[in-house]
Amino acid sequence: MSARRWSPWAALAVAPLVWLPAREREGALAAASVRAPEVTHIEPEGARCDGVMVAEECLRPRCAVGELDLDGFCLPTAGAVADEGAAVATNAHTERTGRRVIYEHIPRRPEVPEDYDRYVYPVPTEGGHAVSSGYDLDRPDAQQRRGAGLHATGHGGVDLPQPRGTPARVVSLRGEQGDPEVVYVGRLFGTTVLLRQVVREGETLWTYLTLYGHLDAPAQGLARGMFVRPGAVVGYVGDTGAEGFVHLHYEVRRARAGVDVMREDIARITEQEVSVPCDPRNVLPWR
Ligand SMILES: [Zn+2]
Repeated sequence: MSARRWSPWAALAVAPLVWLPAREREGALAAASVRAPEVTHIEPEGARCDGVMVAEECLRPRCAVGELDLDGFCLPTAGAVADEGAAVATNAHTERTGRRVIYEHIPRRPEVPEDYDRYVYPVPTEGGHAVSSGYDLDRPDAQQRRGAGLHATGHGGVDLPQPRGTPARVVSLRGEQGDPEVVYVGRLFGTTVLLRQVVREGETLWTYLTLYGHLDAPAQGLARGMFVRPGAVVGYVGDTGAEGFVHLHYEVRRARAGVDVMREDIARITEQEVSVPCDPRNVLPWR
């Protein structure tokens, strides 16, 4: 996470409120013109939560609407959360360092199939299960991915093991408008190709980022600003940034409302104020 856009003054102003009893905190919040995040407040039976319930845990919000609580800092978000629609949910996990992260993400819609084998991926899926590790950012902390070599828990994409050098191809998303545009070719999740894909959902056009990670190499000549057709090769499966595990990490993220991903600093492109992880089953075609 970059610290450049954090507002330490906001954290300093709001964080001390956490330690106040509920009634005093309400008064203090009103005085500071800070509202609690718009998260459904559930009063569990037999327990009292004076914060918000996130993944069956009582969390005490410190940040205003439109801000995210990351590592104790209130991070302003570029897009107004109120404009993001009902699809965006809030969850939390603990990283290996012990850092508690509250994040937003887009869970699988109930109307799309749960079975990963029902979907089309950028790599061949014949002959068995294509996905070795699925999207788990919608699960409670304890059920998210853990690993000795991982600095963070949780998995915001799908892992697709394949022989080294297998071509990874552009998948046209459901409801996609026009051809995907190359946003980035370079180091991010190992050697990575990032595409911008515009999808119509109802009356709204959303920009999705699709991330092809841990590539052995990108397709020759592929460069930022190019448009690619569905089925075109964008790179070759490898293990860069994940040495010893040859696979494609395929991740789908939705850009925040109002964010132009072509104008964003790539170092910030996966930050929550720019884009939020999305269960890829929401947009991948079925087979
Ligand atoms: Zn992965």
